[in-house]
Amino acid sequence: MIQTDLSDVPQRVSTGDLPSLSRVGRLITDAHERYASNDDGIVADYIPALAEADPSWFGISLVGVNGSRHAVGDVDVAFSIQSISKAFMFALMCERYGREELVARIGVNNTGLPFDSVMAVELNDGRPLNPMVNAGAIGTTALVPGENIDERWTIVREGLSAFAGRPLEMSEEVYESETRTNDRNRAIARLVYSYGRMAVDPAEAVEVYTRQCSLMVTADDLAVMGATLADGGVNPITGQRVVSNEASSDTLAVMASCGMYERSGEWLFEIGTPAKSGVSGGIVSIAPGKGATGLFSPRLDFAGNSVRGQHAAAYISCALGFNMFASSPHAREKSSLAH
Ligand code: GLU
Repeated sequence: MIQTDLSDVPQRVSTGDLPSLSRVGRLITDAHERYASNDDGIVADYIPALAEADPSWFGISLVGVNGSRHAVGDVDVAFSIQSISKAFMFALMCERYGREELVARIGVNNTGLPFDSVMAVELNDGRPLNPMVNAGAIGTTALVPGENIDERWTIVREGLSAFAGRPLEMSEEVYESETRTNDRNRAIARLVYSYGRMAVDPAEAVEVYTRQCSLMVTADDLAVMGATLADGGVNPITGQRVVSNEASSDTLAVMASCGMYERSGEWLFEIGTPAKSGVSGGIVSIAPGKGATGLFSPRLDFAGNSVRGQHAAAYISCALGFNMFASSPHAREKSSLAH
């Protein structure tokens, strides 16, 4: 488990509102300072283009549901969204088909296995189990309607862009690099298809999924995308309703149980937020009803989660009251004392 020393940080309990703007700004800066010199972890290289990332990059952005914004560090550096797209695609497909359909076709349970596990598919009769692992994510992208790849890709790009509140662009370099090396994803998609659990050509599903993972975002974008889920599906910057309240809360639930690879349980235990990370070093950590943090730093732990990102998210969750499970006794003592 990732151990973050927070002994000097008073735990703030969730009240439904973020602390004052100046306090949020200071805490974000503190989080950056505390972990900027942590050099644990390694940059992903199984997709060759990812290995070009500067390991020192570190950005934190926080967006409140009221549209407030705070940022520190490398929040304008663009990186490929990778697995973080899975959460938002699930939200878009939940919106389109309804939760029952998604639960039946994909599932919402943690596999306990790595994100690209073939075993998980084999052991479960071809059912992907959840949308945050590659089998379930490719299965979710396979649900995007359209006559051909380009029509489906347009829906994906426009949907994810609506979450970000700006048009997202794909990196040709990342896309080509991933396309050259994604034999495993092709195998997973074909396996799911072989069980009769994918309605479209698996190669086409992988093609759209690979483009989706190659969309470029910043820590700032992640914060806006997360804040949209925190705000019941309405983008707090553009005011656009992207998905329904229900699709948002369903997505947050799956993120909470499955969003951080094999560390999902430990993350929930320690940090207590719905979150999703990706192998390029991004993490989005969400406080439902309050806002979201976008974190970016490319050095990863064994499971694929940004090391600095996890530490900073832990600090922010503790100091700003993001932990969904934190509570304190109702103020009855004070009122009885008063009378
Ligand atoms: N596109 C990557 C893959 O399919 C995403 C991995 C990730 O971020 O977990 O391997």
